[in-house]
Amino acid sequence: MEKLILLTNDDGIASPGLHALRAALAPLGRVSVVAPDRNRSAIARGITIHSSLTVEEVRLEDGATAYATDGTPVDCVRLAVLGLLGEVPDVIVSGANLGLNLGDDVTYSGTVAAALEGVLLGWPAIAVSQEALGGGGGPEADYDFRPVAAFVARLVPLLVRERFPRHVLLNVNAPGRPAGRAQGARVTRLGRRIYHDKLELEAHEGARRRYRIYGDGHSHHREEGTDLAAVDDGFISVTPLHFDLTDLDGMDAVERWEIGGLLREEAAELAP
Ligand code: MN
Repeated sequence: MEKLILLTNDDGIASPGLHALRAALAPLGRVSVVAPDRNRSAIARGITIHSSLTVEEVRLEDGATAYATDGTPVDCVRLAVLGLLGEVPDVIVSGANLGLNLGDDVTYSGTVAAALEGVLLGWPAIAVSQEALGGGGGPEADYDFRPVAAFVARLVPLLVRERFPRHVLLNVNAPGRPAGRAQGARVTRLGRRIYHDKLELEAHEGARRRYRIYGDGHSHHREEGTDLAAVDDGFISVTPLHFDLTDLDGMDAVERWEIGGLLREEAAELAP
């Protein structure tokens, strides 16, 4: 049976990263695009709850219909699986983001959040991010999506065929290298980013001040086996991610504080 692939992103429906994946995935089945109508990067798992959502049918260059929404990436996934497409997708692909989503970035990323929403709802999902040629990211930079698009087109059928564990997404990141200089792929764990944010006062008028806190600069400690190290070495990184944030050691430690009795003691002291 022909597969239905839901394609979304956080850079907006006009992003070349989205269209590179759409072209690469087209031979695998039908690709339905539901994407934000503008750049919604770094919105993480935000959802629109205080207003209704506008969905506009737009015609793509090749004549295909896509849906542009004023919602977030997670809203796009929700719209699609709740019936916008008239059928449910077999797999959800988010990206390709214009810039990497490595290490701690995954918690800010709208690209990863869309895939996460997919797996939490029970669908296989992949988040795809591409570094700009020569490093960095953003809409102004140059990209070569060919290696990552070809890679994802090989990965999606495996994910569907293997019924990849529910509630686990694949976070794929590709280094900014031109096609032909791609090194292959590595399975990795998340590394740790070091952000170099600083407080910069932009303007000061009376009681009102404007600050900038997010710079472009970030680095990381080199640690083997991480997504950061793989991309550093020129490999596509594939990190399986789940959303179980519970720390079992932390549970044991806090259990030893015997906090179960704290409220009772408090109540006893307050009693007349
Ligand atoms: Mn983005």
